[in-house]
Amino acid sequence: MYKINDNYLKLPGRYLFSFIEKKVAAFREKHPDKKVIPLGIGDVTQPLAPTIINTLHYVVDEMKNADTFKGYAPSSGYEFLRNAIVKGDYRSRDVDISIDEIFVSDGAKCDAGNIQEIFSIDNKIAVCDPIYPVYLDTNVMAGRTGTYDETTQRWSDVIYMPCTPDNNFAPELPKETPDIIYLCFPNNPTGTTITKDQLQVWVDYANRVGAVIIYDAAYEAYISEDNVPHTIYECEGAKTCAIELKSFSKNAGFTGVRLGYTVVPKDLKRSNVSLNALWARRQATKYNGAPYIVQRAGEAVYSKSGREQIKKQIDYYMNNAKVICEGLRSAGYHVFGGVNAPYIWLKTPNDMTSWEFFDYLLENANVVGTPGVGFGPQGEGYFRLTAFGTYENTVEAVERIKKL
Ligand SMILES: *Cc1c(COP(=O)(O)O)cnc(C)c1O
Repeated sequence: MYKINDNYLKLPGRYLFSFIEKKVAAFREKHPDKKVIPLGIGDVTQPLAPTIINTLHYVVDEMKNADTFKGYAPSSGYEFLRNAIVKGDYRSRDVDISIDEIFVSDGAKCDAGNIQEIFSIDNKIAVCDPIYPVYLDTNVMAGRTGTYDETTQRWSDVIYMPCTPDNNFAPELPKETPDIIYLCFPNNPTGTTITKDQLQVWVDYANRVGAVIIYDAAYEAYISEDNVPHTIYECEGAKTCAIELKSFSKNAGFTGVRLGYTVVPKDLKRSNVSLNALWARRQATKYNGAPYIVQRAGEAVYSKSGREQIKKQIDYYMNNAKVICEGLRSAGYHVFGGVNAPYIWLKTPNDMTSWEFFDYLLENANVVGTPGVGFGPQGEGYFRLTAFGTYENTVEAVERIKKL
């Protein structure tokens, strides 16, 4: 008789975004006349840049001739894309990463979820609270997190690092020593980030205690301030303690096209076993590569016109972020983030819970956001808005909130 992986049954409750969708659908049914503005889910709204579209058309046509047709891609990605990544994202910042340290994939979410497979089940993970749920939930599925306490909303075998206004959303080094540390800067959900000096402290710590940092840099392209690291490898010693996750979803609008990559440095070793070799083996065994067509589109992201067009899209979203931050501040809200990331994290007014504010905003302003508590217990009393809407909708949403 088969048995299921009952770690899955330990996952608490509902998936946040499907629950929000249900609530919004119910509201729409009751009020078909009302225009609901979605500023909840972290998906982009701008279409793909013209350079990317042109490339896509061109490479689709390559597929119709036998001599330019492509079948299976190399499991770690085509060299043309890995070269473009090394040049555009690392060498341009004086960071020495080689192409065999780059593993192209169909997105950062699956890599963030899969990477834990190359580590023993005995490792203890440390996560920020609030957090992008993938890091934690995939460790729950693997059976690495112990038991869940409904009251505290915490796992017995997980180290939590609170990120609150008290520490400027910069996690402090944990008292108990972790083996695997998940960090994401600029951060989803809080929209805040840390400086290069602050990240250096983490790199030094990880090297000292023998921990590995899984660094999610999905929002790197949104950095506007000078002292914020674009890659963890800007920090000295990061190549012996850090894996970096990158995505084309938020910088180039590839949420539906699907492309990302993971950097596993060759200096990253435990008992002389290279994590790079383990990850290469894992990918070769379980993954057949991101599509050729999409990898060519990814290469176009690094072209001169690609970079210019993408920068315009990012500026567009960050202008929305500014509209939200300034509008809400003028209405008396306490607002965080929105400077180096397309997320705005706000304190709910009048001590409302995150879900009370969700309902209040939906009912009275017909604006949808994301309850902070959905990202962890420290998110209670907070609320996330995204800058990924259209400018017109963003302005209208802010005007409605101001009138409440
Ligand atoms: C959106 C997002 C990603 C990107 O996921 P993809 O699978 O590449 O679309 C990764 N990490 C965080 C924190 C994100 O918000």
